[in-house]
Amino acid sequence: MKIIYHKSLLLMTSVIISSTLVAIAVSSCNFNNTNTNAMASNATVSTQPFGMVDGKAITEYTLKNAAGMQVGIINYGGALTKIITQAKDSSFGDVITGFKSINGFTQSGNPYFGALIGRYANRIAKGTYKVDGVEYHAALNNNGQSLHGGLKGFDKVVWEAKVLPGDSSIQLNYVSKDGEEGYPGNLSVQVVYTLTAHNSIQIEYTAKTDKTTVINLTNHAYFNLSAGKSATIHDHVLQILASEYTPVNEVLIPTGEILNVSGTPFDFNQPKRIGNDIDKVPGGYDHNWILTKATGLQEVANVYDPLSGRVLLVATTEPGLQFYSGNFLDGTLTDTKNDTKYILHGALTLETQHYPDAPNQSRFPSTLLKPGEVYRQTTVYSFSIK
Ligand code: BGC
Repeated sequence: MKIIYHKSLLLMTSVIISSTLVAIAVSSCNFNNTNTNAMASNATVSTQPFGMVDGKAITEYTLKNAAGMQVGIINYGGALTKIITQAKDSSFGDVITGFKSINGFTQSGNPYFGALIGRYANRIAKGTYKVDGVEYHAALNNNGQSLHGGLKGFDKVVWEAKVLPGDSSIQLNYVSKDGEEGYPGNLSVQVVYTLTAHNSIQIEYTAKTDKTTVINLTNHAYFNLSAGKSATIHDHVLQILASEYTPVNEVLIPTGEILNVSGTPFDFNQPKRIGNDIDKVPGGYDHNWILTKATGLQEVANVYDPLSGRVLLVATTEPGLQFYSGNFLDGTLTDTKNDTKYILHGALTLETQHYPDAPNQSRFPSTLLKPGEVYRQTTVYSFSIK
């Protein structure tokens, strides 16, 4: 897989995103979030009731582009419910894990399928950290650590959702109250999912706080590009453009070291079949790769499934990438799409984020957000075939 190919794909993607945004800005579309409407971008959106949570209606929004790609999003956890893309044999298939109904998403043990994660994606050691000299305690939910925002993180709350003019974007808003799950400050979060004409999903996150806090947002989609044809992702070929990673201790908290991937199972600089070295990593891959220091939206990883020919390209503005090989999937989740058994290594995540436990690690990029500042992160998942 040649990097140059991906760079041009990324460039193309950004050109397309910009032109879509321009098209949105200049069109005076009829705002309508209940009908299916073809707009200037040739995208459509349809909505479907998806149950109730906390007394609030949950809706599934399905975006579809002219190429036939579909993306489903619910306002529970802002979760992606489906990503339907074309394979090299021209068939369409769903490349993410998920559930048939809201009961699947709310079941205890849902491993964050497709969800938005916050306030702090990944782990904070013992949930304890300091901001401006004051000690805070985030809710503990994982071996005495705080994982993915605590007991009721952003994946378990109901977001306000609306369709943006142009019918290719869904905007989600959530206000996390001062003290929620042990985090200071009222935090207003906005996430916009956009399906582009050229088969990219762009996720733009912004947030503001009224007290200094810590923040680390991501999306937790689990991909299996075979769309149900391979039970595991062992045959997927992964490339991560990173020469260092952050090793972890037995409860998956970074030791603080920054190690070179060269000569280790963590080296994915050249595309590598995931199954090749997975057995050499106790428990499987569940680590943060340190991305190059370049600023702006950059290509950081790609995955290729030789069976379907599907390629997923990941671009982000974030400094870290958590590659998790679905090590805790054990086939026991219920209400799954097509009754699929999501087994060990049945799917993978590529979570673009800041480093785990950064609030306690002075060598890691800061995750502090102060009043008056705007938190921003953009990630683009682009699909193609080869
Ligand atoms: C973490 C895993 C965790 C999983 C939960 C991933 O982001 O890195 O350690 O088990 O989320 O589903």
